[in-house]
Amino acid sequence: SSRVVIIGAGIVGANLADELVTRGWNDITVVEQGPLSMPGGSTSHAPGLVFQTNVLKTMSLLATYTVDKLLSLEKDGQSCFNQVGGLEIATTPARHHDLKRKYGWAKSWGIPARLLGPEECLKMHPMLNKEKVLSGLYTPTDGLALAARAVQLLIARTRKAGVRYLELTPVIGIEQSDGHVTGVETANGTVPADIVVSCAGFWGVEIGAMIGLPIPLLPLAHQYVKTTAVLGLAGRNTQPNGANLPMIRHQDQDLYYREHGDQVGIGYYGHRPMPVTAASLGPTPKDVNEKKMPSRLEFTPEDFAPAWKESREMLPALLETEIADGFNGIFSFTPDGGPIVGQSPTLDGFWVAEAVWVTHSAGIARAVAELLTTGKSQIDITECELSRFEEVQLAPSYVNETSQQNFVEVYDIMHPLEPKQSPRNLRVSPFYTRQLELGAFFLETGGWERPHWFEGNAALLNDLPASWKPRERDAWSARYWSPIVAVEAWKTRTAVAMYDLTPFRRVEIYGPGAVDVLQRLSTNDVSNGPGAVTYTLLLNDQAGIRSDFVVARLEEDLFQVGVNNAVDQAYLAREARNQTQRNPNRWVQVRDITGATCGIGLWGPHAWNVLSSATADDFTNKGLPYSCVKRATIAGIPVTALRLSWVGELGWELYTTADNGQRLWDVLWQAGQPYGVIAAGRSAFHSLRLEKRNISYYNEMTTEHDPYEAGLESAIKVGKKGFVGQDALDQRAKKPVSRRLRCFTVDDGTSVLLNKEPIFHDGQVKGYVKNAAFGYTVGKTVAFSYLPISVSEGDTLEIEYFNRRVTATVVPWPVVDPQGHRLHG
Ligand code: FAD
Repeated sequence: SSRVVIIGAGIVGANLADELVTRGWNDITVVEQGPLSMPGGSTSHAPGLVFQTNVLKTMSLLATYTVDKLLSLEKDGQSCFNQVGGLEIATTPARHHDLKRKYGWAKSWGIPARLLGPEECLKMHPMLNKEKVLSGLYTPTDGLALAARAVQLLIARTRKAGVRYLELTPVIGIEQSDGHVTGVETANGTVPADIVVSCAGFWGVEIGAMIGLPIPLLPLAHQYVKTTAVLGLAGRNTQPNGANLPMIRHQDQDLYYREHGDQVGIGYYGHRPMPVTAASLGPTPKDVNEKKMPSRLEFTPEDFAPAWKESREMLPALLETEIADGFNGIFSFTPDGGPIVGQSPTLDGFWVAEAVWVTHSAGIARAVAELLTTGKSQIDITECELSRFEEVQLAPSYVNETSQQNFVEVYDIMHPLEPKQSPRNLRVSPFYTRQLELGAFFLETGGWERPHWFEGNAALLNDLPASWKPRERDAWSARYWSPIVAVEAWKTRTAVAMYDLTPFRRVEIYGPGAVDVLQRLSTNDVSNGPGAVTYTLLLNDQAGIRSDFVVARLEEDLFQVGVNNAVDQAYLAREARNQTQRNPNRWVQVRDITGATCGIGLWGPHAWNVLSSATADDFTNKGLPYSCVKRATIAGIPVTALRLSWVGELGWELYTTADNGQRLWDVLWQAGQPYGVIAAGRSAFHSLRLEKRNISYYNEMTTEHDPYEAGLESAIKVGKKGFVGQDALDQRAKKPVSRRLRCFTVDDGTSVLLNKEPIFHDGQVKGYVKNAAFGYTVGKTVAFSYLPISVSEGDTLEIEYFNRRVTATVVPWPVVDPQGHRLHG
């Protein structure tokens, strides 16, 4: 096996060593700057509360695995997990309502949970103040991780299996050669390695800096106290850290609680963010102990005052106690709250697994071990990918501000569309001025301001035919939505609309080896001559879908490729680099052209009228057939035109350079006036796309799914050999699928679904909503889910939305224009 060096013996590093050993790897060294008995990182003092239910399925599954693993890690008859259960309480109507949504996620992800009334909450945890609690969500399998003990057991077990541990040995540099990591440098010399994994926790930024890799995490201090003994708890727990009452999350006041023997532990997120630089903490001392460790800062009682007041109201038994011990403990926060896991985009063999909570630690460790040993983790970790951030999101000022914001919002009720308030206006398209003039309502993604609808279209609400009239929405689904979206959908289907495609990531792939690299990564044949546009999937080694691209061949050696995200870009760049190294004659380069270019989707039955009045170039079905690309000019502006439509209407994607952008917008806008052109936003786009079943990576498929389950056989070129994932795909092709992506519509024509809601069939949870939108053309919510093959078209499903069931029917897809006539005009 490869020689692996793991930096850091916290809960992540120790678990990773263990997961690699389990998979048969045996040349592993763990290098730790602190003493192994208590290294002094965040793990050394973590109170270890594990609440598994999360808005993200990935995070829940990572947590569930961590629970299972810690339960199985035993010594002297005691495991490393105390399964006391978790109780999240509501003290406000908003939280009470939101717990129902969370209860839905628990069902969707297969975590046992119950909604409790106030009496039951009290029975569960008699210390609670019955005047304050409205309801609770109880999860019996949640509990307390004995993280520091787990680390010691894992070290002992992996040592036996041959893992070497170097303690009191700070890593001071990373060695590399030809773009590949070769070892780590310590004061005692170099430890050679083929793979280095940094599990350095909040020191990750410093380790990243050793190779010039920005790690977007911010160490922040978080307050934790233990009270003096509570009389009522005396004798309940035999161990000093023992607990048997459920842990409590009191999120309305940013608080959580657990028992420590007869004391109560209180964690608080309501104080001001207290950022720290790991480098400023100095070297880890040799004599780390409970009170003296780098991750533990002096307690600041004034910051804790509101928490103490509230805690004594919520748990009145605390009135008789004092604060026995408090500290400000450091751990990592990130711009989107997710962990940071994956291979460096610029240095092969250098991996990170940082900003990981104890809750997800074993799950992340297993995922990394699987990626290293097999190329695929069984839990999709796209949302944790190191490379997921856009360049602007790696700026220290951005990381600082957004990570602090995440600390503040850690327990807040967040709407899935809720935008950041700040920083905003980081990236705008060349059409921005026009969008402002048209009253765009912007939301932000990847730093881009993206119009979701245009207030300027409000006047058209009066013209809306009865069948298109938007339905009344519940307060939750009405947030970040406007009835104007119905107008924009209607106009796209009946006249013509302009959509800003600028923020969709585009890369140029060029050089004599461009076609080779694309062919090697693609399931489809992308080698058709210049002018061809091909939709293709990209698989991992196990035939899970890792992305989908739209590949437009502009010249023999030049492609414009619509990719999904920065992760794709990093992947392409690495593959191109490796190919160029292997075969310099077939060199290939990848260049991100997103910001340098811009695009308009001109779509609708009148799109032809608009375009033909602005250009003399041939845009007929013959001049530019469907799924083809060509360069042309529109009113003298050079464009790259793709005959494609995400929304399923006649039209084109028209790209030009940023400098020409506003003029292109103005020309089309002018030309469109006689045909009633409007500007339309993301909300209509999303709805029209789903009606047409133009599914896309991440939204409707991930590495969890294969092309057969997603119903994308058409994106696989029959007989094609030698692409990544082909062997595994061939194996899968031989077996019938057990689940399939299904489309269904909600029967009542009014209820809206957002995403992630549990789906019942024959009284049992059979899946969850993968994506959904109100379909204005069909007057119903249209949704997608992976469902067992036993579920057939025409079957009735029940979907649970905030603990209320609505019925839906499985339907053939797409629900609009199944023959695709509209695309051809
Ligand atoms: P660490 O435990 O920090 O380990 C990193 C290791 O890397 C350290 O031992 C460090 O010495 C070593 N290292 C760093 N740099 C170098 C170098 N240059 N050379 C060699 N070694 C190096 N999480 C939960 O899930 N539930 C909770 O209830 C919870 N409560 C918390 C309460 C507090 C007060 C705090 C501070 C954190 C809490 N957390 C909780 C978060 C959790 O503790 C951390 O996210 C987790 O322990 C991180 O584990 P780790 O292995 O990544 O990092």
